[in-house]
Amino acid sequence: MPLSVASILAETAARRPDHTALVLGDLRLPYSAVWDQAKRYAAVFRAQGIGPGDKVSILIPNTPHFVFAYYGAAALGAVVVPVHALLRAEEIEYVLKDSESKLFVCAGQLLGEGAKGAELADVPLMTVMGDAGPQTDALRIDEIAQQTEPIPAYEQAEPDDVAVILYTSGTTGKPKGAMLTHLNIVMNVDTSVISSFDTSPDDVVLGCLPLFHSFGQTVSLNVTFRAGGTLVLMPRFDGPGALQLMIKEKVTNFIAVPTMYMALLDAIRQSESDEKPPLRLAISGGASLLLSVLEEFERVFEIPVYEGYGLTETSPVATFNQKGWTTKPGTVGRPIWGVDAEIARAEIEERIELLPVGELGEIVIRGHNIMKGYLNRPDATAEAIVDRWFRTGDLGTKDEDGYITIVDRKKDMVLRGGFNVYPREVEEVLMRHPDVAQVAVIAVPHPTHGEEVCAVIVPAPGSTPDKEEIVAWSKTHLAGHKYPRIVEFVEAFPLGPSGKVLKRELKTQFGE
Ligand code: ATP
Repeated sequence: MPLSVASILAETAARRPDHTALVLGDLRLPYSAVWDQAKRYAAVFRAQGIGPGDKVSILIPNTPHFVFAYYGAAALGAVVVPVHALLRAEEIEYVLKDSESKLFVCAGQLLGEGAKGAELADVPLMTVMGDAGPQTDALRIDEIAQQTEPIPAYEQAEPDDVAVILYTSGTTGKPKGAMLTHLNIVMNVDTSVISSFDTSPDDVVLGCLPLFHSFGQTVSLNVTFRAGGTLVLMPRFDGPGALQLMIKEKVTNFIAVPTMYMALLDAIRQSESDEKPPLRLAISGGASLLLSVLEEFERVFEIPVYEGYGLTETSPVATFNQKGWTTKPGTVGRPIWGVDAEIARAEIEERIELLPVGELGEIVIRGHNIMKGYLNRPDATAEAIVDRWFRTGDLGTKDEDGYITIVDRKKDMVLRGGFNVYPREVEEVLMRHPDVAQVAVIAVPHPTHGEEVCAVIVPAPGSTPDKEEIVAWSKTHLAGHKYPRIVEFVEAFPLGPSGKVLKRELKTQFGE
């Protein structure tokens, strides 16, 4: 079959047409129906003037419509630009304009901002599930598709053609469109299915990660479809809801970010019944998983948790604690097949100088998973990809077996009076305080030390923590330059699309 992201679905639909591909509530769709719908969406796109290389932006929650539009655009050789569901109108305008999208497909319930964004960017708008949102004249792609003949076959793409443009979520500045090729994605999916996870048609995967983000898109959607398993869509995650759905649908694979792990464990602790889903595979990525959470999860489900690491720019999987290899909890595993991960001197930016085993530096990655570049940003691309190595901006070490340990993000490091403080280490310690439910450690400006360590804390339910007591407690557990001298309390953290704490927002709030 010709190589394309569309082939991931097309091939499985040919091989296992009757197997359930998608579940949403009571709706169950076999692979043949999903591929048929995708080809109908492709026909509608074609009738709207979309062809190979044209950009189609989609703003759709985790519903089958996302899947139809995603593979439908890919089937034409068009470039899919998934839009983050929480963006405001001007931010949507930015993505539509920057990507030069020719068409924007927006779900009815997101039309409030979506329709404004389309108007500001002057991009034609189509909608799905239109009755759920405000009134609009936009054409309903889900309705038109039913009266349209599906395209007969998908377009062959060149391996190096761009398949998807994913805007980095902006925890660190203005969004940049990472261009991922068909080969980037297909290779990431195949290595994940085969060497890392052993995914099979018997697997039932919880689709709780947002599909507009690279983690959910590659590791939940594309990997499940490549393996011919079943994806149970969950448009909005919450711990008790996830537990209930996983039991009902007999979910076997939990692929999630650490905050979801914590919420699921919480739901299990609160639950009156002992019933649990029949999990066989648990995968965590996107942010660091606390060892205490990993251990509790492994105790409750009696299976190992495989932690991995990646970025949007690395398609996203770069390293993993893989099945069949020794698992080293606390590390993010070794590079996936065909990919190198090394540690480079962080302060040298213009070239890559690799460091020996055990030394701390910037994690750099090379291989089939590295994006083609940032759209319209040759300077940013040249800064990020040096001598074919992608600079991740993450600090870490590598051991003698090639396992990577992440220390922190370069930009999150606190430089206090000439000493480096790594927030993650301080956070791990503070999590042991009984009054702390969640913590994020940030740098705030300081007149003499340059920066000071500040701990922003979500208190444990029912507790009334005291700032001075927490500072004093920290002092007995951490070195003089590391313990937070400033403590702030918040009810909840601002979170990014994949459940990551937006430290930039906390720095703006508490940095004065
Ligand atoms: P932006 O790149 O704009 O800052 P983002 O952080 O949401 O946004 P992603 O590509 O989603 O961008 O996230 C990649 C980052 O997530 C990595 O650079 C790393 O800091 C972090 N990360 C991913 N997996 C792990 C992990 N297992 N442990 C610790 N951090 C991780």
